[in-house]
Amino acid sequence: MEFHTVKERPQAIEQCMAFIKSYFEGTSANIREHKINEKPALFVSFNKKKRQTLIFNGHIDVVEGSESQFSPYVEKGRLFGRGSVDMKGAVAAFMVLMKKLSRMKHPPPVGLMIVSDEETDGLCSKRMVSHGYAADFVIVGEPTRMQVETRHKGHMTVAIYAYGSASHGSRPWQGKNAIIKLWNQYQKFADAVPQAKRSSKWFPTINPTSIIADAPHNVTPSKARMILDIRTTEDYTNDSMFALLRKLKIRYKRIVSINMLTNPRRAHIRPFKLYAQRFLGRKLKYVKSCGGSDAKAFSDKGMEAINFGPVGKNHHRQQEYVDLNSLVDYYRVLDGYVKNYICK
Ligand SMILES: [Zn+2]
Repeated sequence: MEFHTVKERPQAIEQCMAFIKSYFEGTSANIREHKINEKPALFVSFNKKKRQTLIFNGHIDVVEGSESQFSPYVEKGRLFGRGSVDMKGAVAAFMVLMKKLSRMKHPPPVGLMIVSDEETDGLCSKRMVSHGYAADFVIVGEPTRMQVETRHKGHMTVAIYAYGSASHGSRPWQGKNAIIKLWNQYQKFADAVPQAKRSSKWFPTINPTSIIADAPHNVTPSKARMILDIRTTEDYTNDSMFALLRKLKIRYKRIVSINMLTNPRRAHIRPFKLYAQRFLGRKLKYVKSCGGSDAKAFSDKGMEAINFGPVGKNHHRQQEYVDLNSLVDYYRVLDGYVKNYICK
């Protein structure tokens, strides 16, 4: 966690990767290194295959935090610091488990994929999958408070445009203001879709995050562009959003479009959840999240992929922490699951 692995510091990301690699030195583990869009990624396994039965996936990049968050400390059983729960804690658990497995006479077909761009574009996991890395079941260590996250919303970044005509700023009636036209179009689009609120989150959201109209201060703008961060669900899919934009005759450009995580098949997920419940002695829930994750890269190719991470709080915020007892439980659940279900 002391490695300041934000996107602006590629050197720290390289150093953290080198640290992970050195952790496996002298073990029987195979390490494959990749560079994807300038970002390093690692794959640790015990055979030479890209296809494994189980893959753990974790990211070592973090969002920026205050300088003090990169000096982790423990207080009352909680490990505080940037990346503790999102998600270097889980990555550490994966590493310890992989090292333990490497000492077995016949280590199981389990792989560990470490990526370094989840917080920015998630290209590493996506490309690794398109290069042939695959598994029957993928566990991504995003924070889920020990619940089994099987679904998250889809994600679109879309630019919408409106064109008007310029005039002197003192005589707006002589022109047509593109910002006002664009805002009206956005409103029409947003009104046509029921949107999530605090009390009912499982609906789409259409959130303007940027608006640009490059006119001088005293000229009515003739062109305006708005960026929308759109999150989608089963009932309001990415395709249906694009269709609606066309129906409303709104000009748009697709920047990013990632479908939601669904996991219709649960051949591995169910036994995993049952095992974790038995081990922890409490009922776990299938949960869904408004945000996205690298699990999507795998489920898009038909693999079962969940997010499963330890208890903690405040990821992407001040006072981020992971509960250390929960992190130990987390390790034990994964260890027991591999022993009982994969080492056969
Ligand atoms: Zn994360």
